[in-house]
Amino acid sequence: MDLILFGPPGAGKGTQAKRLVAAHGIPQISTGDLMRAERKSGSELGKRFDEYMSQGKLVPDAMVIELMEKRLTQDDAKDGAIFDGFPRTVAQAEALDSLLAKLGRKIDKVVVIDVAREEIVERVTGRRLCEETGREYHIRYNPPPPGVKVTQRGDDTEETAHKRYDTFEQNTLPVLPHYEAKGLVAKVNGVGALDEVTTRIEAVLPS
Ligand code: AMP
Repeated sequence: MDLILFGPPGAGKGTQAKRLVAAHGIPQISTGDLMRAERKSGSELGKRFDEYMSQGKLVPDAMVIELMEKRLTQDDAKDGAIFDGFPRTVAQAEALDSLLAKLGRKIDKVVVIDVAREEIVERVTGRRLCEETGREYHIRYNPPPPGVKVTQRGDDTEETAHKRYDTFEQNTLPVLPHYEAKGLVAKVNGVGALDEVTTRIEAVLPS
């Protein structure tokens, strides 16, 4: 199964993707995570990603598509993937269609995780990450246990949260009609307990 988790930054795509990985035996592919790993390595490419990421701007399509092509052809993704934070533009959606077509596959479902802007800003600014385990916490809703060392993503400020939401509305929302025309889109309410949201997502996935 090839599944897109779609929604504004901070909707819970990453958290929900991780929960679906075990149940469906396919990997999560997050372009944001791939870029953060590249940035952490200190490579030239990572520095170029950072110029855009630190400002809440989209990384240019050609760079993102190249990154995806490399990732998608790795062995663990041969039976499908959960795309998280990709595609974010119509050009990326079209590139994904043709990458998948080359592999004899297509997108099976696009699940929109629906969360309003005010809620997003609150979530994003409280988000914390344990770099050792990759686990995500929230200072109010899911505080890290004592002794767990957490950091805040540099792009998780209120200003950048608004900017990323603006970018989502301007560049990423127009991706939806591309998949709506194919009858692939299902919307779920992204507000509620993590388990509740997972159940809502599972309910709309193809059997
Ligand atoms: P995320 O972790 O998905 O919230 O992504 C963090 C940042 O990485 C975004 O604000 C963008 O700067 C960049 N990014 C991640 N995925 C993409 C993508 N598909 N297209 C363009 N930029 C991306």
